[in-house]
Amino acid sequence: MKVKILRLGHRKKRDKRLTTHVALIARAFGADEVIICGERDDSLIKTVKDVVKRWGGPFEISYSKNWKKTLNDLADNYTIVHLTMYGVPFEKALNKLKGKNLVVIVGSEKVPSDVYKLADYNLSVTNQPHSEAGALAVFLYELFSGKKKRFKDYKIKIKPSKRGKKVIKK
Ligand code: SAM
Repeated sequence: MKVKILRLGHRKKRDKRLTTHVALIARAFGADEVIICGERDDSLIKTVKDVVKRWGGPFEISYSKNWKKTLNDLADNYTIVHLTMYGVPFEKALNKLKGKNLVVIVGSEKVPSDVYKLADYNLSVTNQPHSEAGALAVFLYELFSGKKKRFKDYKIKIKPSKRGKKVIKK
């Protein structure tokens, strides 16, 4: 099972922080890759690669200037999920999605109507407007049934503690 996140519509200035959050959530909650579709942003890619170097992987970040081609290339081997507040409740589709190769699309501003047609599933995380970061975190958490990914090749990791900060350095 491979899970790729397609971040649709990155605007370098406006979306820097939120796209970084999407990438970090994708990594922390168990996805394998985030594909950034929109304006090329090398500093965003570097930020995420630096996190992977320090906190572990495997996790890939890549860039695509043509989201439709990327989706069409993946369509044979991946089920396409689009997270949108207009979709059907994601809980209804979860059992069919667990264990499959997925591309999960999250938007930024208005998502082109073609996305709704290309997607195998248009799924909502509540039908209220909120955030791509929030929707992605909830979806991935439930997809993996709350099971946490074991990261490899990390330089630092946290030892959970009731108070204070405990960091293990390799
Ligand atoms: N009106 C915009 C639209 O859907 O075209 C909403 C943009 S919203 C700020 C950015 C992204 O957050 C959406 O493209 C979607 O991926 C995600 N999102 C926001 N609310 C959601 C919800 N309730 N369920 C699933 N995804 C949501």
